[in-house]
Amino acid sequence: QCITHCPVGALSERDDVGRMKKALADPNVTTVVQIAPAIRTAWGEAFGLTPQEATVQRLATILRHIGFDIVFDTTFSADLTIMEESSEFLKFMQHKQPDDLPMFTSCCPGWVRFAKSEYPELLDQLSTSKSPQQMFGAVTKTWYADKIGLTPKQIFSVSIMPCVAKKAEAELPSMTRDDGTPDVDLVLTTREITRMIKSEYLDPKNFAESRLDDPLGIGSGAGVIFGSTGGVMEAALRSAYYFVNGENADADTFKAVRGENGCREVTTQLGGKDVKAIVVNGLANTRQLIENLKAGKVHCDFVEVMACPGGCVGGGGQPIHDGEEMAARRAPTLYRLDHNDQLRFSHDNPSIKMVYQEYLGDPLSDTAEHLLHTHHVASER
Ligand code: SF4
Repeated sequence: QCITHCPVGALSERDDVGRMKKALADPNVTTVVQIAPAIRTAWGEAFGLTPQEATVQRLATILRHIGFDIVFDTTFSADLTIMEESSEFLKFMQHKQPDDLPMFTSCCPGWVRFAKSEYPELLDQLSTSKSPQQMFGAVTKTWYADKIGLTPKQIFSVSIMPCVAKKAEAELPSMTRDDGTPDVDLVLTTREITRMIKSEYLDPKNFAESRLDDPLGIGSGAGVIFGSTGGVMEAALRSAYYFVNGENADADTFKAVRGENGCREVTTQLGGKDVKAIVVNGLANTRQLIENLKAGKVHCDFVEVMACPGGCVGGGGQPIHDGEEMAARRAPTLYRLDHNDQLRFSHDNPSIKMVYQEYLGDPLSDTAEHLLHTHHVASER
């Protein structure tokens, strides 16, 4: 893969630990950190923790010890992305003809960047819903800032991501408040947060678990599986089914999209129509699928693309083990967490209900469109 198309930007990785430490030392800002779903599969590897020990709750305690003020979970905004994206998909299906191209997910910046450079003619097919990282930043600097009586500039919004491409996504001009304040001020990769913990000489085994903060620290199992290939599609279909039928399907109904193959599919009935969804990971598989779609050899309605093989669990910001592909070993942690969760549907998340009730109204409302959606422009990379 050449440097310009490296989905994760690993060949030009920038270290932001110094900037982070400066923000933590600044008494004029409140640091709000979000932890991406895939982090819980990998942050403990450098410290010899088992997946059961390396919980997001233990990481929360360590982050507070280091000096972060408020610790939240990106699974909250993964649920928010699902609310918007599944509603957007159902609207898209009202007009879609069988031979039309499908709607594509857009929460992977490696894929979005690839589409902008290689397939700009497809940009209108991409979901306009922002990624969980960016929805989180937007909600933090508006609704949440208001709740705690701060201005957007008084909040330093940080995300811990498995992904180097997320740094560039946070810096896109379209991902800022009207006053130019970025929704996400800084992105740290799993490797960077590991370095920070080590630089403080901390042994995570000595830290107990603690709850994440409310209300943006609550996420569903559907939000957790975002970290694996197929997880976004499965979560979206769970909620789309509910929006159409007014009741939940069994949470595992769409599990055919799980797995390690480069391309998988599931067909389901939504609103009396057969809906075919395809999940693809890795850019070589993505290119092949797009060429087949354009040639009319494959037809489908909804496509999830993750640039990294295996999805974010195998992302370019995750710990690297020479000669070992870790995605398949990490993904089961996410499915275990989802399976054991009482809350497995994004639309059932009480914090999601609260943010719609208090601020956004309904999915795709004017406020939601303004805050949570974007337009993909080929020149903005
Ligand atoms: Fe980043 Fe995940 Fe996309 Fe990889 S799959 S580029 S880690 S968002």
